[in-house]
Amino acid sequence: MHYNNLFSFNKLEYVTGRKKPDVGCILCAINEKDPRVERLEVYRNAFFLISVNLYPFNVGHLLIFPLRHIETIVELSDDEALQLHHLTNLSIEVLSEVYSPGGFNVGYNIGACSGASIEHLHLHIVPRYSRELGFIDILGGAKLVVEHPEVTTKKLKEAFQKRNLT
Ligand SMILES: [Zn+2]
Repeated sequence: MHYNNLFSFNKLEYVTGRKKPDVGCILCAINEKDPRVERLEVYRNAFFLISVNLYPFNVGHLLIFPLRHIETIVELSDDEALQLHHLTNLSIEVLSEVYSPGGFNVGYNIGACSGASIEHLHLHIVPRYSRELGFIDILGGAKLVVEHPEVTTKKLKEAFQKRNLT
């Protein structure tokens, strides 16, 4: 397990989104490299981008989303749907290599009643671990983040790049 890089963190500020960027659509902002959003991109091609979730459920929690702003999977073309499937597989391979999780949850939240907080279509890839600490745990009274999303981004970006070259 990769539980290094432990450090204290202001949980409330980060998780409740007090610093939430004031942008129209956060995924479009990431796509456009808006300086107001955190740079958590790990991979992109002409149609899709893969980003570490700014508010991860678990270490390695990724979002795959189309560059164009669409809101449901119905709007994906057949080519895009196929490509999304390949990127899902690629993400699972990379996450398996870097974090060796015991499983994955893969899925969409679509529409107002689904719990989706972002309208722009995105696929969640959540690695699951047999001994989960959770993203934020209280250990010995201190709030600790298992791994900062920026650290996750760096590791995964390298792993995606490596696979792209081979
Ligand atoms: Zn958008």
